[in-house]
Amino acid sequence: MRRMFSLFLALVMVMSVSMTVFANPQSKPNGPWIQPEQEVKLESLMSPEDLEKNLMQIKDRARPDRMELDVVGYSATYEYPIYAVKFGEADTDNPKIFIQTQIHGDEQLGTEASMDLIQQLAMSNNKDITNILDNVTVWFIPMLNPDGAVIFETEQGQSKQRQNLQVWDPAEYGLAEDTQAPWYYRPDSVSREMGFDVNRDFHPYLDFELGPDTAAYIPRRSSEPGVYATPEALASRAVFKELQPDLFIDHHHRYSNIVSEDDDRLNTLQIIAQVVDEDTVVSFGGTDYQLDEESLNLSKQVNSHVYQALQRGNSPFGAVSRYPEVNLPGTALGSYSMNGAAIMLYETRGQQHPYGHTGQKANGQYTQQSYVGLYETLRGFATGEIYEIDPAFYDEEIPYGSPRIGRPN
Ligand SMILES: [Zn+2]
Repeated sequence: MRRMFSLFLALVMVMSVSMTVFANPQSKPNGPWIQPEQEVKLESLMSPEDLEKNLMQIKDRARPDRMELDVVGYSATYEYPIYAVKFGEADTDNPKIFIQTQIHGDEQLGTEASMDLIQQLAMSNNKDITNILDNVTVWFIPMLNPDGAVIFETEQGQSKQRQNLQVWDPAEYGLAEDTQAPWYYRPDSVSREMGFDVNRDFHPYLDFELGPDTAAYIPRRSSEPGVYATPEALASRAVFKELQPDLFIDHHHRYSNIVSEDDDRLNTLQIIAQVVDEDTVVSFGGTDYQLDEESLNLSKQVNSHVYQALQRGNSPFGAVSRYPEVNLPGTALGSYSMNGAAIMLYETRGQQHPYGHTGQKANGQYTQQSYVGLYETLRGFATGEIYEIDPAFYDEEIPYGSPRIGRPN
């Protein structure tokens, strides 16, 4: 009986602790939240076919000599072309930026925002746009994981999925049949289909090839880098190697959070300038890969610049905070940052599956938010404003420690 009572007491304590975190935002949800009777429809977002069609149309209408459109790989299962869109040369003294979206198929709004920006860069003669084109090289991969972006139906509504749809086949790499897959080959949380989390498939050694000689590197835990087992990661790597960007931007989504313990506004965006610890070293082939201070400082300047742009005037996008600290050398951001690129991660609220969807209205707002962030980044490099920012702003002024919250209904 006594034991039962202390168990009960412990439960009450756990509940009251979580209640204090959840109570405020739950009592005045500032949405938009999707309502229970509202059906989740994803057709308004670009399918891989729509993306291709739109890219061809933009290319046709682009002003002469502005835009190059390349196929840099094919998706693992449906063999969709993976497109790179290029403005400016790799061989230049201008700052070089690589923007990548939808490495996770159910995280789409960065693709929508990038396509709006690509259209502007290809077609507009606005002075700010021509100034960007003259002073910045910017390349995009919009929708790195088209297989994951294909809609499927569930009992709860439509969904896309995080992973690709590739089946682990050791023979493809010349490996013994019983070779165990990397830890990031796993079932999707909604569809239960097996596939790879492409964003754990990266290694700082950019010539890494999976084969009999490197099978010992197949990772068993998230602190270890990946092995480029997916054609999607290989496509991203090819673009990174060709461009050698000063800045790499990766666009994602996450669940609902509030800004901080002291600010219960619903987070519209989380950002981060660092996804690998300063003392993490990955050694391969006699080279040590590690973060360097100069690119980390530029990462903090870029993240601060976007944060400030989203606070300005009557921006509806002010509820921005820093993403939790992580140490993930196997992500695209992690591996590329260990190769001297500054980085920025976008984590917009909500995913394109029934448990993360936030509705049509929010999709429009969050796409616009990412557009503003990306556009301001290009403008900031073109004018040089970004280099004027004190990197300490990032650590001192951007809110941190967002508690996760559930739906208020
Ligand atoms: Zn993601």
